[in-house]
Amino acid sequence: MTLSFDFNTIVFMLAVLTFMLSGLLLLAGLNRGDAQGSRHWALANIMLSIGLAMSFTRFFLTHAWCFVLGAVLLTSGMGLQYVGLQKFKREAVTWWVPLSAVLAVFVLTVWFHAIQHDTQGRMIANSLVFAMLNIASARLLLVPAPEPLKTAYRFTGITFLLLAGTFIGRAILTYIEPAKTFGSLLFPPVGPHLFFIGNMMQMCLTFGFVLMMNYRLVTDLRVLAIRDPLTGILNRRSLEDEASYLLARCHRNEEVLTVMMIDVDHFKAINDEYGHQAGDEVLKHLVSLVNSTIRTGDYFARYGGEEFCVVLPLTTREEALVLAERLRQKYADTPIQIDGKVIQSTISIGLTDTFQAGVEFVNLVSLADQALYQAKRAGRNRVVLSTYPTITN
Ligand code: GH3
Ligand code: MG
Ligand code: MG
Repeated sequence: MTLSFDFNTIVFMLAVLTFMLSGLLLLAGLNRGDAQGSRHWALANIMLSIGLAMSFTRFFLTHAWCFVLGAVLLTSGMGLQYVGLQKFKREAVTWWVPLSAVLAVFVLTVWFHAIQHDTQGRMIANSLVFAMLNIASARLLLVPAPEPLKTAYRFTGITFLLLAGTFIGRAILTYIEPAKTFGSLLFPPVGPHLFFIGNMMQMCLTFGFVLMMNYRLVTDLRVLAIRDPLTGILNRRSLEDEASYLLARCHRNEEVLTVMMIDVDHFKAINDEYGHQAGDEVLKHLVSLVNSTIRTGDYFARYGGEEFCVVLPLTTREEALVLAERLRQKYADTPIQIDGKVIQSTISIGLTDTFQAGVEFVNLVSLADQALYQAKRAGRNRVVLSTYPTITN
């Protein structure tokens, strides 16, 4: 079987593919806002495909300005990819990088193509600008990142580097053997080959970007599943998962673990008096205070509305009492200011440990809750240790 396609057909097919990929980028970024950079990449794709077609085929080359436009489109496309990456990473956009590259390519192409007619100089200069822009994009991606995003960053970053390497290679080859490169650039086989490689690499970049968006979604969903959206700490379900693992270890190694329940006193009154939003701020204030007081190995979660739970591995309830008392005091001593109003509140804390409640998490929480209830009944703003084991394993 022999397949034969003429160059024009291939150009047409690649152009259609690129438009389809741009559509894919737009669809993949739909409902996720503009913050992802996917629209920049979709537009970049279209610019790059038209730019490549103008630079590497003979269709449009009847006029010198088409050549200039082709080079400017290529640079703008690469620049938009760079901007899209910064948007994706939620960084401030440094517009001067793509803008200066576009300006440089415009001036260089006008100079070498329309004024000097120096094809060798134009190819070397433009290739080096393209390489620098791709290296700038690679630098944005070849940085530490959490898994699985890291894999997508590496894939896309390395493709950018390969593209930069191709442009540097092209510049060197043009310098050393001008006759073999630009002399035959517009004619088979060199022209179509470069055009094809350029298009394939752009497609790899698009795949890489879609992969990045997919992995970002996975990461965001994971955070949503385990974290409380208001305070950013663990939610109840993930604390229960962590606790079952910790308690199994406790049981095996006969270690101790303490559970501490914290509840804001008269929180309903704070909401009623200052508004729900002020209530939210009070909760965030409490969270930051607890976070700065507990140790790295401790687990802190929002257990319900204004009730929080701290799990302290390798700590007895008497040891935890010192920490709880410090927390209570610190909270009572630091009123917060919202809209010029000072909000003063207190917390109550109930504690128990595995020596007393056993290694079932529900029992630990239940006993700590009973201690908390005693603290409330005794007048609030206090810490109470659970005393009588009412649950036996
Ligand atoms: P006590 O001293 O006995 O704990 O009294 P309390 O008013 O704190 O207790 P209660 O459980 O009656 O009230 C808790 C209130 O917390 C009721 C609910 O509207 C409020 N709440 C629950 N979740 C949130 C939240 O995310 N934000 C705000 N602002 N309020 C919340
Ligand atoms: Mg309360
Ligand atoms: Mg409560």
